[in-house]
Amino acid sequence: MESCGIPHTEIGYLGMDGKAVGFSHIPRSPGRLTVRGISPPFDVERPSFLRPEPLSALRFIADANVIRLGRLMLILGFDTALCRRGSDGDIARQAQTRGRIMLTRDTALLKRKMITFARRVRADLPYDQVSEVVHFFGLEQRTAFFSRCTACNVLLEPRAKDEILHLLEPKTRLYFHRFFQCPECGRIFWRGSHVENMREKFSALGISING
Ligand SMILES: [Zn+2]
Repeated sequence: MESCGIPHTEIGYLGMDGKAVGFSHIPRSPGRLTVRGISPPFDVERPSFLRPEPLSALRFIADANVIRLGRLMLILGFDTALCRRGSDGDIARQAQTRGRIMLTRDTALLKRKMITFARRVRADLPYDQVSEVVHFFGLEQRTAFFSRCTACNVLLEPRAKDEILHLLEPKTRLYFHRFFQCPECGRIFWRGSHVENMREKFSALGISING
């Protein structure tokens, strides 16, 4: 199948003469092979015939060709590693060892055995891509908007305004009252107009914003 161009990560059902078989099945005699794609929502936390070992948590890894999608996943609060460089082998190994769902547009990368869970992203534009991924994995209700640092992929911590006052620009001091800080890089976050614009864009795509 992979030599025909379909990565194993895209397959939801394999059948030989009507009986479900796994990826390692070798047909002993001629027969009829049925191949079906994954039908969404794809619940990666539940075991299935082809993938008996589910993921224990929702974690993603985005490669260089979908970095903007990866940043939007982070803004929605999903644990997402951004992989700007590295060989296909390194990226696949990271997906495997850290139990991450691979997001990419690279079909050849998805043919690597080490990758079990993935989405070969179809849409071209970042907001369309995030909509595609959220709906494919059924994550519409699992967002935690603006809860994670987009540079470090760690959860933000709330900070009292007077604790961080010295780090703020005068206008920010004046107009905003709720602040968060990244415990890794120290960057301060607040929900300004850019955040509200994003919230509206996500809502228009049918992604509810929790948080
Ligand atoms: Zn950070």
